[in-house]
Amino acid sequence: MSAESRYDILLEPVKIGPVTARNRFYQVPHCTGMGYRDPTALAHMRGVKAEGGWAVVCTEQVEFHWSAEITPFIELRLWDDRDIPMLARMAEHIHAHGALAGLELCYNGLHSPNFYSREVPMGPTGLPVASFSYEPLQGRTMDKQDIRNLRRWHRAAALRARQAGFDLIYVYGGHALNILHHFLSHEFNQRTDEYGGSLENRTRLLKELLTDTREAVGDTCAVPCRLSVDELRGGAGLEKAETEDMIGLVAEIPDLWDVCLASWENDSMSSRFGEEGGQEPFISGVKKLTTKPVLGVGRYTSPDRMVSIVRKGIVDMIGCARPSIADPFLPNKVAEGRLEDIRECIGCNICVSGDFTMSPIRCTQNPTMGEEWRRGWHPERIRPKESEKPVLIVGAGPAGLEAAQALGKRGYEVTLAERETELGGRVARECRLPGLAAWGRVRDYRAEQLHKLPNVSLYLDSRLDAETVLEFGCPRVVIATGARWRGDGVGRHWTAPVPLDGGAQVLTPDDLMAERWPEGARVTVWDDDHYYMASVLAELLADRGYETTYVTPASEASTWSRNTMEQHFAQARLLEKGVRIEAFRNLSRIAPGVVATSCVHTGQTDEAEADAVVLVTARTPADEIAAELARQRERWADAGLEAVDTIGDALAPATIAHAVYAGRRYAEELDGPPVSPDEVPFKRELAELIA
Ligand code: ADP
Ligand code: SF4
Repeated sequence: MSAESRYDILLEPVKIGPVTARNRFYQVPHCTGMGYRDPTALAHMRGVKAEGGWAVVCTEQVEFHWSAEITPFIELRLWDDRDIPMLARMAEHIHAHGALAGLELCYNGLHSPNFYSREVPMGPTGLPVASFSYEPLQGRTMDKQDIRNLRRWHRAAALRARQAGFDLIYVYGGHALNILHHFLSHEFNQRTDEYGGSLENRTRLLKELLTDTREAVGDTCAVPCRLSVDELRGGAGLEKAETEDMIGLVAEIPDLWDVCLASWENDSMSSRFGEEGGQEPFISGVKKLTTKPVLGVGRYTSPDRMVSIVRKGIVDMIGCARPSIADPFLPNKVAEGRLEDIRECIGCNICVSGDFTMSPIRCTQNPTMGEEWRRGWHPERIRPKESEKPVLIVGAGPAGLEAAQALGKRGYEVTLAERETELGGRVARECRLPGLAAWGRVRDYRAEQLHKLPNVSLYLDSRLDAETVLEFGCPRVVIATGARWRGDGVGRHWTAPVPLDGGAQVLTPDDLMAERWPEGARVTVWDDDHYYMASVLAELLADRGYETTYVTPASEASTWSRNTMEQHFAQARLLEKGVRIEAFRNLSRIAPGVVATSCVHTGQTDEAEADAVVLVTARTPADEIAAELARQRERWADAGLEAVDTIGDALAPATIAHAVYAGRRYAEELDGPPVSPDEVPFKRELAELIA
């Protein structure tokens, strides 16, 4: 069977009510951290996905009434007619490339603190607001008039969505964060009227909103319904059997079923904690309940897996959020038989961190994500070279690899020199750690691209120094030599070295990644980094049989990974593996066999026996070559050297996403118009002042 015919099934059109999707690739609604603040940037980003072949491209959640808004999160709004133009712009960009535009109407109810509108939140039952933090406020119980109002607002919003040009208008009850979920849930819905109690009663509002929306816009627009099939909390939350019964009650009313898991962290589980297609056992029963098309997500990047779930009758369409972020051109690459060019999502959830930090979406694999309009970057195109001057890149980590492939595609002569015998830098090391195998895709995609570029010469096992760089005689030099983990304890808490008595056994993540293991049985991991590294290493040590204690000055393990929705999973995994977690404690001294810590609140100290301490703190940029070249400035002209730029971790250690972005930025800006630090280098939208 030829490669083309094998994937043809993914390219078949699918009828969704009154509209037809051109293929089975469906970009489900996903947050972006841009929303109402960056509408044009958002419109361009969605338009690029349509250009890349997605049949349906959806918005993030669109708050359709001011009485349920989730400030400080930045989503879209459709509160009145004045919000229509920014949504219309997005629909135009999606239509310009032949895709259908979908809009997800959302009323967050008991999930909305309403810090902006200051309205009293409401839900089926007056309960504390259940957002991502413990807000000190409660919602009130809706009366019948409130329910009638809600139905009227939803209907008005559906009409506005159609006016804005959208082809699919959602009734959204997924992810345990909106009013429909609250009505369906026996936990949140404690009503005794016809909207509470029995399964039928709890489904009543869903049925009404579906019917209202079909009546309002169903002649021209499809009405998908998005529901969570399971909350993965056993009987405490909604479970598959119950939701399947609910779906059965309204099975034929929507035009499409978009089924997911709740809460959001279960649905968008990172690759560290969940496999591709982890949702399949939960969503596989939905198709037998309805004749309407069904779709689900599962971080699908493998076209074979996609074909298989369609053939098995689990879904009709492939729902994707993250795979469409990492590669907006995934559908076109499948259609063109260019599977090796797919930039596969690594499941790191850095994209999700955009929403949680209220900043424009970014992606580890796709550095152009969110920059399509702001900086004019495109995931598949980059302007041709504007000079014949070659470039030498030192270091083939994420920064050097991305710079090399992007410059190579521009047509520059590029030499990439790497000290090690393999590509990838930190990614090559980190993808061997527990749960991080998929991160190797950052290297794999770029290595594949480099192979196709005859103008990029790759030298492995080639350690350069300032002298060899000068001898090389290349006008442009990029230093992308990465960073080393510090062994002196300097980090956020200690900005000077931690008191360390001679003879104590101290290791860093670099030691463990190089398989230099602690001697003895008891190991303390000090986390002053707060992202994934310390918890991954504690897990690794526990797996190797060490009695492991994890000490952090924060309130919990890996606290920054709240932004990637991994914190809860990381903490659970450590506890399950028998790692002792000591929160709110500072490291105060390391001595042979002993580690002293103190309470961050009271200062009260304690000592514990430890054979070794692993310090997960700050990193030192490996910028020696750049520093030496700066000292030898007078030799540059003779060597033909014109510019030295340091990028990625070698400049300032950060995430892998930062390093890939730095590589891309260098490649985008080379020979471009001069970038003045006195001017804003990206486009932004400013609020229109009202008279
Ligand atoms: P980044 O995240 O900024 O890309 P990494 O640490 O992942 O940084 O990658 C840096 C790469 O540079 C590593 O693969 C490392 O082996 C390589 N490297 C460091 N010093 C040299 C050197 N002197 N010559 C060649 N390669 C080097
Ligand atoms: Fe995938 Fe990570 Fe990109 Fe999100 S940021 S789309 S999880 S690679």
